[in-house]
Amino acid sequence: LTGIALNRMLGQLRDEMAPQAAEKGLSLSISQKSAWVHSDATYLRRILQNLISNALRYTTHGEVRVDLQQLDDRLSVSISDTGPGIPIDHQDKVFDEFHRVNSDTGPADGLGLGLAIVDRACRLLKHPLRMISKTGQGTTFTIELPLATQFATERPERPNVAENTPLQRIVLLIEND
Ligand code: ATP
Ligand code: MG
Repeated sequence: LTGIALNRMLGQLRDEMAPQAAEKGLSLSISQKSAWVHSDATYLRRILQNLISNALRYTTHGEVRVDLQQLDDRLSVSISDTGPGIPIDHQDKVFDEFHRVNSDTGPADGLGLGLAIVDRACRLLKHPLRMISKTGQGTTFTIELPLATQFATERPERPNVAENTPLQRIVLLIEND
């Protein structure tokens, strides 16, 4: 596992997904808090991509959010939507390959593999994964990631005069990585 600038990855995902959200009239709100986590970039990207794209695909009105919360030395990343929810009798099955709820009426373009990949990747990386869903209200997936450094809030606007201090150089290096 390596240190990953999660905020940078989330920013890229937001840029990729924003047109789909706009097309459906959904609000897409992705946290821009700066955070470093220990994970695998390729797997983590796919996990977040699958969860955000599901949220956008199955939600017809309201919003999709990605929120970050620090829990001691871990970071919880939650992807929540105001979509149809997943019926209780499907809640464990949706992680099975090819299982889809309402496969006859839902969008025909899915194979039912997205959540199976998410589940397997989270097990492989030992990132705890949880799902809370209520029909008619929405779904929230939460992943816990080990923090790579101190969790920092959004970088405050700094006056130009601080631009050349050594500390500022370090901050800029980290954020541009
Ligand atoms: P694929 O991801 O392979 O393109 P898919 O989206 O159907 O296809 P999964 O991502 O594994 O497959 O999801 C399985 C099923 O779980 C979906 O078909 C859908 O019924 C349900 N589901 C997944 N995410 C949500 C969500 N955010 N809200 C409501 N239902 C969902
Ligand atoms: Mg999917």
